[in-house]
Amino acid sequence: MKRKIGVMGGTFDPIHHGHLVAASEVADRFGLDEVVFVPTGQPWQKSEREVSAAEDRYLMTVVATASNPRFTVSRVDIDRGGATYTTDTLTDLHRQRPGSELYFITGADALAQILSWQKLDELFDLAHFVGVTRPGYELDDHHLPDGSVTLVEVPAMAISSTDCRRRVADGRPVWYLVPDGVVQYISKRGLYQEPSS
Ligand code: ATP
Ligand code: MG
Repeated sequence: MKRKIGVMGGTFDPIHHGHLVAASEVADRFGLDEVVFVPTGQPWQKSEREVSAAEDRYLMTVVATASNPRFTVSRVDIDRGGATYTTDTLTDLHRQRPGSELYFITGADALAQILSWQKLDELFDLAHFVGVTRPGYELDDHHLPDGSVTLVEVPAMAISSTDCRRRVADGRPVWYLVPDGVVQYISKRGLYQEPSS
């Protein structure tokens, strides 16, 4: 049988429990063998703010996923450099894991941006898309081609990386919003001390 692999792309600046619950729920729902977390290179959608160093985002993602035997982290987008295009991510992952079926997992907000992504039909050939619910965003399939997108309701986690960064800058806690190891990594590296966004 083909290996079924979830792909969770994100800036992960920092990774939080909203990302982890979404990945875990989709893995259970689709019987995925693995979920690969793929931290972005310098993301063009976020070029208005400084994104933390790729190595810090990569290491936080490793720390957050280390205890789950089905969760892995890929450096493809970081090592390619430059802006991340989802077609490149999926093409690289197909090359590394030949013959597998990819499930690209996005929150409701990111799914809403799908239509602005490049080469839609190529995207849908590379992966099945899974849109998960996210508090504050409407989840709908935007009349995308039949069978190309599945919408999944996941436990509501009103957490965003933006809020986590603000909390750290304000000296407020991020305990229980991000995994303990990530709280400690943020403090060890002194991340998010300056208000940025
Ligand atoms: P930022 O506030 O910096 O944009 P974020 O919290 O949105 O950060 P991203 O790294 O931008 O996190 O998101 C990566 C993916 O995870 C996107 O598909 C996004 O929709 C999804 N996601 C993020 N937070 C949640 C959440 N709380 N519930 C469900 N999906 C989420
Ligand atoms: Mg986001």
